[in-house]
Amino acid sequence: MQVVNLTIDGKNIQAEAGSTVWEAASANGIEIPRLCHKPGLTIAGHCRICGVKVKNRPRLAASCATQIAEGMEVTTHDEEIDKYRRTIIELLLSSHRHDCWNCESNGNCELQNLAYEFGIEKLHFPIEEEVVPVDDSSEVLLRDLNRCILCGRCTRSCQEITVQNIIGFANRGSETTIVAGLDQIYPETDCVRCGNCVQACPTGAITEKLARFQGRTWEFEKTRTTCPYCGVGCQIELWVKDNKIVRSYGCEDGPDNKGALCVKGRFGLDFVGHPDRLTKPLIRKNGKFKESSWDEALNLIADKFKELKEKYGSDTLAGLSSAKCTNEENYLFQKFIRTCFNTNTVDHCARLCHASTVAGLAKAFGSGAMTNSIRDCVEKANVILVIGSNTTEQHPVMGCLVKHVTEYNGTKLIVADPRKTELAERADIWLRHRCGTDVALFNGLMNVILNEDLYDHEFVENRTEDFEELKKVVSKYTPEKTEEITGVPKEKLIEAARLYAKAERASILYSMGITQHTTGTDNVLSSANLAMLTGNIGKEGTGVNPLRGQNNVQGACDMGALPPFLPGYQKVAIPEVIEKFEKAWGVKLPTGGGLTVVEIMNAASKGKIKGLYIMGENPMMSDPNLHHVEEGLRNLEFLVVQDIFLTETAKLADVVLPSCAFAEKDGTFTNTGRRVQLLHKAVTPPGESRQDWEIICEVSKRMGYEMAYNHPREIMEEIASLTPSYGGMHYDRLEKEGISWPCPNREHPGTPILHGKTFTRGKGLFAGVEYKPPKELPDKDYPFTLTTGRLLYHFHTATMTRHSKPLSAIVPEGYVEINPVDAERLGIKDEEFTKVSSRRGEIKVKAKVTDKVDVGTVFIPFHFKEAAANYLTIDALDPVAKIPEYKVCAVKINKIEGLRCIKSCSQCGLY
Ligand code: SF4
Repeated sequence: MQVVNLTIDGKNIQAEAGSTVWEAASANGIEIPRLCHKPGLTIAGHCRICGVKVKNRPRLAASCATQIAEGMEVTTHDEEIDKYRRTIIELLLSSHRHDCWNCESNGNCELQNLAYEFGIEKLHFPIEEEVVPVDDSSEVLLRDLNRCILCGRCTRSCQEITVQNIIGFANRGSETTIVAGLDQIYPETDCVRCGNCVQACPTGAITEKLARFQGRTWEFEKTRTTCPYCGVGCQIELWVKDNKIVRSYGCEDGPDNKGALCVKGRFGLDFVGHPDRLTKPLIRKNGKFKESSWDEALNLIADKFKELKEKYGSDTLAGLSSAKCTNEENYLFQKFIRTCFNTNTVDHCARLCHASTVAGLAKAFGSGAMTNSIRDCVEKANVILVIGSNTTEQHPVMGCLVKHVTEYNGTKLIVADPRKTELAERADIWLRHRCGTDVALFNGLMNVILNEDLYDHEFVENRTEDFEELKKVVSKYTPEKTEEITGVPKEKLIEAARLYAKAERASILYSMGITQHTTGTDNVLSSANLAMLTGNIGKEGTGVNPLRGQNNVQGACDMGALPPFLPGYQKVAIPEVIEKFEKAWGVKLPTGGGLTVVEIMNAASKGKIKGLYIMGENPMMSDPNLHHVEEGLRNLEFLVVQDIFLTETAKLADVVLPSCAFAEKDGTFTNTGRRVQLLHKAVTPPGESRQDWEIICEVSKRMGYEMAYNHPREIMEEIASLTPSYGGMHYDRLEKEGISWPCPNREHPGTPILHGKTFTRGKGLFAGVEYKPPKELPDKDYPFTLTTGRLLYHFHTATMTRHSKPLSAIVPEGYVEINPVDAERLGIKDEEFTKVSSRRGEIKVKAKVTDKVDVGTVFIPFHFKEAAANYLTIDALDPVAKIPEYKVCAVKINKIEGLRCIKSCSQCGLY
C-alpha cells in the first residue's frame, strides 16, 4: 500500500494514496459532516457541506472530492468553516418541508441531525411555500419531493448499485428535481423495488410505505441477521417494534451485499407476522385438523414412527430436511433420521436444484460447491460467462453486481440462455441455445478453443488428468455441428469461445438452467471442463460458481441432509467415517441405501415408504409431476409436517407442528459462496410455535434417543468437532464477516477460493461428455417445450412471498410466457386464459405474450398453486444426481374460449 503523509487539524496522519480527505479523516476518527457523499457511491461533490480548508488553496475544498497529497495541511473545523456549513444547512432547510413530526425519518434524518448539531434555531432565508403531492404510486415506496435536498444519493444508488438507471435529475437551476422512469437504453427496465434508494436517502424524501406510522426511529430494536431468501445471504438489520418487523436495511459492512438488498430482503419479510402463521400443533382426527397440546402431538409422532419402524422396518421411514432451516437444525434432523429411524433416507430440496452440482463438481474437483466467493468471481473477473442463471431475478444483489462491473469496470459478459433474461439483453454476446443443449454448447466452445490453440497448456499439463479423453469427444463438436444441435450461429459461438479463452481471468456463473436436466451432472462436468481447459480455476476472478437457490441449501448439504453423506460430505460408505459418528453419537448407524426426494415419492406411491417426516419443505409445490406426488403422500400411513404455514403439503399431513421463521431464531446459514453467517433472533414466535431444533430433540427423546442442547451454539460446537471443513466454525468467530469453509480449526481464516495449488481430489479430472437430448421433446401431440423457473418477486413454493403483502400485490398470479409468433398462430392475446397440458396434467393460466421466450418454447413460473407448473413437469431423473428435468418437457397450449378475466366472475376458479 502506498502511503501519503498529511496533517488534519494538526494531527499527523498516514493514509492510503488515492484516498480523499474525507476518507483519510474518517479513518482517523475525525468527523466531517456530509450529505451528498455516501461511502460506496461515486463522489458527487454537490452539497459542499464537507468543505474544508487546505493550506495554500484559495477556497474551501469539498473533502469528499479532494484527493490527499503528500504534506497536505487540512483544517476541518473552525469558525469560518462552521459559518459556511450553517449557511448551506439553512439554505437546504429553506426549501425543505418542516413537518418533521410526521416524517418517517425523524430522528434518523441527516439534515435534521446537522441542523441540531449546528444549533440552528431560525432560518435567514425565506421558506419555500410550494408543496408538491407525495407520490405513492409504488407498492413499497413513498416519494416526498418536498423533503428532497437534491443530494443525488438515490440516483447514484439506482445507477451504481442496482444499475437500473431509472432515477435521475431533471430540469435546471431552481427547477431541478428528481424524476423516475428514465431508462432509455433498456426501455423495458422497470423499478425493481429494491429500495436501495430508501437506504441511500439522507432525509425523509424516500421512505418505506408499509412503515408509515408504524414507529418513530428511536422506538425500534435493531437486530442484525441474515436474509431468509436466496443464497446470496445478504446481511440485514431488522427494525422491530412491538414484536413486528417494520423495516429492513442492508448492512453496509455485509461482506457480500455491502448495504444492498433486493425487494424480497427489504420489503418481503412481513410474512413473519402474518396472521395465518401456525400457532398450535394440529392433529388430523376424523379427516379434520384439531388443535392439540405439544405433548399429545409429540407423543403421537414418536409412538407412530416407532410402531411403523417395528412393523415394517427402518427403510420404510424417511425424512425431508430443509434448505430454509439453519445448519444446526439440518444437522440435528439428519442425526435424528439416522439415529432414530436408522436409515439414510434423508434428503432435501438440493436434490431438486443443485444435486448435479454436488455430484459433478465433486467428480471433477473433489468438492461440490462454488469455487470462488460471491464478490470475487464477479468483481475480479475480466470476462463472466453466465449460463442457465437468471441472476438479476434469482440472486438479485449478485445480478446487480454483474451489471455494475459490466457497466463501470469494462468487464465483458457472455450469457448463454434460451430465455431473453435481463443479463442476456445486456450481454456483449448472447448465445440463445435450445433448452437442454448445454453439453453441446460447452463442447462447441471447447472445440474452438482447442482448434485455435487458446487453451492453457501449462495448467492442463500440471493440474489435470484425462485431457486426451476430453479432446476425443470435443473434436466432434465442430461449430457447424454445435449450431445444428443448439441453434447458436457458429460465428457467435466462435466469438464467445475466443472472448472467454483469451481473458486473463474468466469466471463461470451457473444455476438451475444447468442443473435441472436429466443431463445435469454432465452439464456441470462440462462447465468444469471449460474452466480447467483455460486455467480459469483456483485463482481470483475465475472459477466455476454454482449459484445456490435457497438461503441455506449449501448448508443443508454440508450438514449431511443427503443420503450418501454424513456432515461435511463424509461418506456413509466409508467404515472409518461410520465408526467415528457411531462413537460420537453412541448408536449403530446405517451404512448404505437411502432414497432421494423423487425416489421417496415413488416409493410412497408404491407403499414402500410408510412414514415421512417433513421439516420446512413443500413437495406438493416443489416436486415434479404433482399428481404423482399427491398420490404418494396420500398413500403414506403417517405424515408429519413441521412448518410456519399450513402449506399445500401440510394440508395432507396427519400431524402439523408449528415452527419458527428465520427472524425468530439464532443459528447459522451457509450462503452460496460457502460463507457461514449468523442469524440472530429479532422477534418472539407466535403462539406456541417452537424452534425446529427443539422439536427434533423432543421427538428424538420420545423415540428413545436423548438429544439435549441449550442453544444452537452448542450444536455448532458438535458440528465443528465432527466436520473437518467446519472445524473452526465457532459462534464467537462468526459475527459480522462470517467464515468460508473449509475452515479446519480455530486459527484458520477460512477459504474464499478453492483449489489454489491443488484440487481437493489432487488433479482436476476432465470428463469427455457426449450430448444427450432431454427425455421428453416436443412432438405433434405436445408441440411446445415448457421450461420453468422463478420470478424476482416470489420465492420457491411462495410459502413466504405469497404471505407478503407488497410482493403479492406486485405479482399476484402466475402466467405462461409465449412468443408473439406462437400466440398469433394460436389466436391467443396477452392476458387471455389458456389451458397448458402435458402428459401428466393440465393447468389454466393467463398468457403473457413476449419475446423473452423463443418460438416453440413457453415459460411458467412455478410459484403459484392455482396454476402450478409442476403438474406439468416430468419426473425423469439425472441418473447420477437424481435431479428431475424441470427445464424441459413437452406441452400443448389451447386458448380457453369465452374466459375473460374480470377477477370476480369465478369462471376460471382462480379468484
Ligand atoms: Fe435476500 Fe437474496 Fe435479495 Fe439478498 S439478494 S436481499 S439474500 S433475496
